[in-house]
Order: sequence, then C-alpha cells, then structure tokens
Amino acid sequence: MYLHIQKLINEIAVDEPDPAAANALQEGLGGQFGEMRTMMQYLFQSMNFRGDPSSQPYKDLLQGVGTEEISHVELIGTTIARLLDGAPGYSGKKSDPVDKPGAKGATPLSIAKDTGNIHHFLVGAQGALPVDAVGNPWSGSYVYNSGNLVLDLLYNLMLESTGRLQKCRIYEMTDNKAARSTIAYLIVRDQAHENAFAKALESLGVNWGKVLPIPKTNAEAFPEVKKLTDQGLQSIQYTFDAENASQAAKLYRGASPSNDGTELSTAQMPAGGVPITIAPERREEFAPGLDVELLSLIQATAEIEIASADSPTS
Ligand code: MN
Ligand code: MN
Repeated sequence: MYLHIQKLINEIAVDEPDPAAANALQEGLGGQFGEMRTMMQYLFQSMNFRGDPSSQPYKDLLQGVGTEEISHVELIGTTIARLLDGAPGYSGKKSDPVDKPGAKGATPLSIAKDTGNIHHFLVGAQGALPVDAVGNPWSGSYVYNSGNLVLDLLYNLMLESTGRLQKCRIYEMTDNKAARSTIAYLIVRDQAHENAFAKALESLGVNWGKVLPIPKTNAEAFPEVKKLTDQGLQSIQYTFDAENASQAAKLYRGASPSNDGTELSTAQMPAGGVPITIAPERREEFAPGLDVELLSLIQATAEIEIASADSPTS
C-alpha cells in the first residue's frame, strides 16, 4: 500500500509560461519512453515477481524504482501545468460570473490556436494530459513484463537510457528554467536507474565495460545537471519502503557501473522535498468553475456530513 506526502520530489524553478515547452515535456510524461511507462512497467514487474526468498532484492529494487517513478509522474505533470498556467493572459475579474469569463466577444484563449497543443487548453484546462507530444494517448501496451528477470532488466535499462536520451534532447529545445529544472532532475535520476538495472544485471554475470552511461552525452555539461551530479544524485537509489524492509541495498552498492568513480548507496527516501501548492483558478477555462453559491453549498454539505459522522448511530 502507498502513502502520499504533499511534497514534490524536486523543486520546479519559477519562469514564464511556455506552452511549447509543455508540449515537448508531454513526451517525457505520456510517451512510449515516458514516466507513466516507467512507473507502470516496474510496478507490474514487482507485482508479478516470482522466485524463492533469495530473489527478494530484485523485487525490492523494482518496487523502489517503480515507486519513485510515481513521484516523477507527479513532478513532470505539475511542471507541464505550470508551463501552461496563465499562458492565455486572461484578464478577467474574480467578481465576474463564472459562466461569463469571455463576455462581450472576448477571446481569452486565443493563444491556444497558435500553439501545437490545443488539447492542453481545450480538453485539459491548462493541465498535463496522459498523452505524448503529438497527442497519442498513453498505452498499456508500452509496458514490458515478460516474466523473465534477465529480459525484464535488459528492457528496463533500455527504457531508462532512451528516456535519458529524449530528455537530453528536450533540454536542448528550451531554455525555460521551469522546464529545465525538471528535465535536469529526470536526466540524473534516469542515470541512477540505469545504474540500478545495470548493477542487477552485473550480479547475474554481465560485465558492462565502458558501455554506460547511455547515451554518452556529457549531460554534466548542462549546468542544472552538473549541480545534481555534484551532489551524487546519480549514484543513490531510494527504497521508498516505510518499514525499511527493502533488500535493494544488496544489489545497489559498490562501484557505479557508470564509471564515474562514485560508489552506489541507498536511502529510504530523498531528503527534503518541496511543498505542493494548489494551482490558481482559471476562470477562462471554467476551472474549477466554483462560484460563491456553489462553494457555500459544498461547505454546508460537508458540515452536515461531518455532523452525522460524529453523532452516535442508533
Ligand atoms: Mn523517471
Ligand atoms: Mn527511471
């Protein structure tokens, strides 16, 4: 079972809205090699895991990385929403009725026509969508879980490497600070996960030589990435195991297969985290579409329900 902490796993830098960058980031969220796929692939591999008790460290490694990927979905989805938020430059007043945000022929959402991601404004109310950069819906058929541990680990390494490759490309598409702060974090965590699956395969007999990391970009040349690798974030893996029962540390230890001279280590969870703030109302999107009367109705209903829950049942 899962607990949720109302914090983001990494800070999103503050910058101007950038719908085009949001569109590119959709590939990293809902694309074939995006965060939704890594999340589902590792959680399914962990759920379906078979073996005797000595194989527990492999299941625990998959579970820990899969749980982290939930936080990556949350981080990149929130980043996309921030990059979209306020983009139309709507100047309506809070006192306007909720059903008249574009009154008298105004077109506060006209920017949507000039960007490649009309869906973000039309369907998603300036929020992230479970689709790739061209709008293909995320598909469960992306998930690879053959049941053969070596094959699954090989595929996981390919998945992390391709994710890292695509994020390095997105980094070079935009200099928006909000986009880059999240892309850089995910590039470094992709490398940590490459290390995880490479190390697990090493334990099964693979010698990586100088193959890793993939791609052989000097991602450290990106300043936001260097800041994180200087902290060693590519060489630590979290278990996200609230009871500290994970045996993933039996695999995620020793010299990094990335040949960067670091030692791998594990921790229960990342230090810190960044408080999650609620996104502002977007009246031009009728989102959330609550006016004073509706809000008071919701409040009154909640009070009745709380009162009846508190009173003793007959
Ligand atoms: Mn990820
Ligand atoms: Mn990953």
